[in-house]
Amino acid sequence: MTEVLIAGGAVMGASVAFWLTRLDPGLSVTVIEPDPGYATASTALSAAGIRSQFTNPVNVEISRFGIEFIRDFARHTGPAGGVPDLGLRENGYLFLAGTETGALQLENLAAMQRSLGAATEVLDPAALRARFPWLETDGVSAGSFGPRDEGFFDNMGLLSGMKNAARAAGARWLTDRVAALERDGDRITAAILAQGGRRPADIFVNCAGPRCAEMLRTVGLNLPVEPRKRTIFVVDAPAARHPEAPLIVDPSGIWMRPEHGQWLAATVPATDGPCDPADFVPQSELWEDHVWPLLYQRCAGFEAAKVVREWAGHYAFNTLDQNAILGRNPQAPNLFHANGFSGHGLQQAPAVGRGVAEQIVHGDWVTLDLSELGVQRVLDGQPFAEAAIV
Ligand SMILES: Cc1cc2nc3c(=O)[nH]c(=O)nc-3n(C[C@H](O)[C@H](O)[C@H](O)COP(=O)(O)OP(=O)(O)OC[C@H]3O[C@@H](n4cnc5c(N)ncnc54)[C@H](O)[C@@H]3O)c2cc1C
Repeated sequence: MTEVLIAGGAVMGASVAFWLTRLDPGLSVTVIEPDPGYATASTALSAAGIRSQFTNPVNVEISRFGIEFIRDFARHTGPAGGVPDLGLRENGYLFLAGTETGALQLENLAAMQRSLGAATEVLDPAALRARFPWLETDGVSAGSFGPRDEGFFDNMGLLSGMKNAARAAGARWLTDRVAALERDGDRITAAILAQGGRRPADIFVNCAGPRCAEMLRTVGLNLPVEPRKRTIFVVDAPAARHPEAPLIVDPSGIWMRPEHGQWLAATVPATDGPCDPADFVPQSELWEDHVWPLLYQRCAGFEAAKVVREWAGHYAFNTLDQNAILGRNPQAPNLFHANGFSGHGLQQAPAVGRGVAEQIVHGDWVTLDLSELGVQRVLDGQPFAEAAIV
């Protein structure tokens, strides 16, 4: 029986395991995950958004499948998934541009996204104010808005449903950490576990999120992926309650979205770079100096706003091109990747898990051609850049 070992059992590991059990019930699938509570997994710390508004057509297609999967989750995962509904709220995303060049870019991208089935509309400032009367449009030249197929959903439900369904179909979750891989020539032969023991397997899948490169270095391989800290603020602003608001991405990079009568908001720190993978202390100073002034400027009612909670998570940041790194590694052909999502991996999990499982079972991408996101471009140092990074 072919043994598959997946390192990392959050949303990506769960999705790969889920699709493997569906595509080939004869495989033996083991997932190694050190933290069954997922306290520091990006999956648990994410903003739980999905959008069609990407700059690469392949990322639009990945999210198009993601939204269909999320909407129809109970049918995909079945009763064994145990999660009947992912609570999708289709509030949309609103990307704002601050220049005429930016507005033109939004028009071009919206046309590409619509050609793939998305509903992206580009609105001028007057149309933006008509649609969102509370939005301040000073300094805004246009906004692109997805009125359907975009919004927020239950991130942990997505993980649990796929994990439960995979386990019901025979996949095993083991609470341990892959301390190192073992290599013989161009084959990965075993995983050395932190609690002792060596697990040989035929196929290895790296789903270790922001720690994916750390694990690879144990066999002398490399990936241009590093953990980067992102702090999310939960904000109470009683005079600014707009539960129907989209996730707004300001030209400054600051984003905000409604959440149960409050708001989530975040920004990219001015001095962005790799962080200690064990450091989850929020960067509280970003609120007062950067985030609050922008919220105040963008939406009436934020003059009285209070941070009621904050948390930090890590992007698995691909320093080459901020895009996923997927599939077979030509340097070690029995090693597969689902890495480097740079802040948009939650929504990509359904399509990526299916794609990686297809490559393992059928030897190639089948349903969706993900070759542009393959490992070879990284080895060649040829960026395939995604520009819509939030
Ligand atoms: C603040 C924030 C906001 C985000 N917002 C969004 C969003 O709105 N929409 C979206 O699509 N995406 C978003 N993302 C990105 C998304 O959360 C990730 O891309 C996605 O969750 C990646 O899933 P993963 O399973 O690859 O990684 P993770 O969820 O990080 O899981 C990796 C797992 O690997 C385990 N692991 C680590 N090392 C080892 C080892 N050596 N051996 C075994 N297991 C190991 C960890 O314990 C962990 O459970 C956001 C991320 C952050 C941090």
